Amino acid sequence: MDTKTFKSRLAQMLEHSFGKNIASAESHQLHDSIAKVVMEDISAQWKKSTEQHLAGRRAMYLSMEFLMGRAVYNDLLCLGLTDVVDEALKAEGRSLAELEDIEDAALGNGGLGRLAACFLDSAAAHDIPLDGYGIRYKYGLFKQSIVDGFQHEEADNWTKYGDPWSVRREEDSVEITYGDQKVLAVPYDMPIIGYGTKNIGTLRLWQAESADDFDFAAFDSGDYDGAVKAQNDAENISKVLYPNDNCEAGKILRLKQEYFFSAASVADALRKHKKRFGTLDNLADYVTIQLNDTHPVIAIPELIRQLIKEGFTFDKAFDTAHKVFNYTNHTIMAEALEKWDSKMVEKVLPDVYAVILQINERFYADMYAKGLDKAQIRKMAPVGDGMVKMAFMAIFVSSYINGVAAIHTEILKNDALKEWYELYPERFQNKTNGITQRRWLALCNPELSAMITKLLGNADWVKDLDELKKLEKFADDESVLNEFMAVKEAKKHQLADFIKAHDGKEIDPDWIFDIQIKRLHEYKRQFLNALGILYIYFGIKDGSIKDFTPTVFIFGAKSAPGYRRAKAIIKLINEIGDYVNADPETADKLKVVFVQNYNVSYAEKLVCAADVSEQISTAGTEASGTGNMKLMLNGAVTLGTYDGANVEIAEEAGEENEYIFGARVEELAEIMPAYDPRDILFKDGKIKRVLDKLIDGTFSDGGVPSDQEGSFRELYKALTDGASWHVPDHYYVLGDLNSYIEAKLRMNADYKDRLAFAKKCWLNICNAGKFSSDRTIKDYAENIWKI
Ligand SMILES: *Cc1c(COP(=O)(O)O)cnc(C)c1O
Repeated sequence: MDTKTFKSRLAQMLEHSFGKNIASAESHQLHDSIAKVVMEDISAQWKKSTEQHLAGRRAMYLSMEFLMGRAVYNDLLCLGLTDVVDEALKAEGRSLAELEDIEDAALGNGGLGRLAACFLDSAAAHDIPLDGYGIRYKYGLFKQSIVDGFQHEEADNWTKYGDPWSVRREEDSVEITYGDQKVLAVPYDMPIIGYGTKNIGTLRLWQAESADDFDFAAFDSGDYDGAVKAQNDAENISKVLYPNDNCEAGKILRLKQEYFFSAASVADALRKHKKRFGTLDNLADYVTIQLNDTHPVIAIPELIRQLIKEGFTFDKAFDTAHKVFNYTNHTIMAEALEKWDSKMVEKVLPDVYAVILQINERFYADMYAKGLDKAQIRKMAPVGDGMVKMAFMAIFVSSYINGVAAIHTEILKNDALKEWYELYPERFQNKTNGITQRRWLALCNPELSAMITKLLGNADWVKDLDELKKLEKFADDESVLNEFMAVKEAKKHQLADFIKAHDGKEIDPDWIFDIQIKRLHEYKRQFLNALGILYIYFGIKDGSIKDFTPTVFIFGAKSAPGYRRAKAIIKLINEIGDYVNADPETADKLKVVFVQNYNVSYAEKLVCAADVSEQISTAGTEASGTGNMKLMLNGAVTLGTYDGANVEIAEEAGEENEYIFGARVEELAEIMPAYDPRDILFKDGKIKRVLDKLIDGTFSDGGVPSDQEGSFRELYKALTDGASWHVPDHYYVLGDLNSYIEAKLRMNADYKDRLAFAKKCWLNICNAGKFSSDRTIKDYAENIWKI
């Protein structure tokens, strides 16, 4: 489409929808009409692609979360329409930049949901017939503001101005039955536009509605509450995303949500398949389902249940399920391994529970046949100890199980799921996560993209990120490194301007930007970063740290609203910020900024402006991480532990181009049993000086009683005495602190040689090819889905 055509269609759409013209429309009206013009434009091709997906073997990606971010810029980029639309708007005194007000589609918590979004993008771009299935939450992840240093949450009503990128497909609705209610699942489809190809995939999000028409008779005869309640109870199922990242919720509504989209997606697949082939016998030849963590594992007994209803025997249905399903494990942390109380499952999903028991019987039969030890069988059974163990059910039934980074998969095989690996070694694979370079470079960093394209002589890297390797030959080219530094500087200026406008904080673009952005979680150790800042602050003041290159420490993170220790860490970071930022003696050396409402759109600005990427989880806790990849791709060095994909990042870019510190997984296994953090505290005066600040009244935690979670004294006690069910300093914060400081100061000193530092950054970009989700998705397609 050319600019003139687009402009006239946009003008028509605005007139028709709002009675406005391009110059007079509100920005959300502009957005709505741009979306509608694009949706009209792609509609025929989308339909064609959908039919092509259904005609052959295809993959379904079931995920409780899809953290899509803003659609408009990405869709225009993928269609090659960005300039066309911008020119059309500029002719009327408007611009695409105004659409920055548009809300993100934040139907996910963090990495797991963003991974699902990157996978859809990569599959679409590479003509892989993959479609996403999830929940159309009315409220996505809460919006965060920081008030007096505390996190405040506000509902995320993301469809307030409508949802022009979705199409309601009433005709594909599915009735979902629970023990105590029936609801209707109504699909809303979003196009997933493949970059540089005609292929358009689909993200199908199910919305819960009442299965029955509003009961006017009951309403009229006086049962007002009953009639309204039946409607509300149904709608509640897709009302809100659970805001716990990496943590099981265990609530009835959560189980209902999991079943809701799993059952609807399975029914959808069977209905489409039967319509096409008239039989379900060959289902597994055409449909493969990837389960994104255990949240959709209930789809396994549900598929078997639906097949039995269609006349399959249990064994035949089980065999089909085995061929159809694959399961991705995302964590080894105990608190995140999903289990459901059997009684609850039986009550909420009686028919499904009956199938779960049959699966469990089948497990016993198979294991007895193998002659496995009986205690061992009991331990591994999908049902036991009054619980349904979702991961065990998934591994028992699926064809393939994968971890999400090399080290993570090794831990699964050798430790967390050792017995399972011994039983089914052929089922285990690794699929190191990735990110899409369309959003995380082409879209968010046009300056660096243009430079790369110019140097390579083409833009092939947008579809083949390994092309970046060819940039290595410029690693000693001063003019190239200077140009790269100028790009980085421009991105730092842009971020500084945005932070000023969005958060009201001033930062100096000439300083080092040291950035930690990710969900707030103890295992991710923002606490370690906070203590490190205090450590350095005191070191500068007492003269033991000299020649410190001025650094701004930037944090972005949401905490689950009920996770009180994480919230205390947010408050602590802000207290430390207020304290050090106000000290004139260090005012030209360090500054701390906590930005509000970290989300995909904010990430797009932050990742391009970082000099240093903080990836400091305790070794063995971060399955992969994907934030680490975004920062690497945009030319930041990693200051990180040997954890998750950091290991592979260091391997690809060369360890000399990162700052790796801290105890390794195998070291921690030796250290932790006898670890006593007080040994460190009492022996190391510099560490004691930092920790004392938590309890000497310098910082205010807002008056939380000292024996309660959420107080700074409690954070202190978690390090020294342990908290909840954890041992003292469960995440080895004090143990790694000195090593962390050493790496950080070494990085800080290295930065002074700007050219040498730029070379490290450059080599990170050159070697980021492996971390494209294009590579990951092709690996799934070839080695798991056989597509
Ligand atoms: C990439 C991303 C994440 C995941 O970050 P990690 O550092 O891997 O935990 C979380 N939230 C948002 C908004 C992201 O874009």
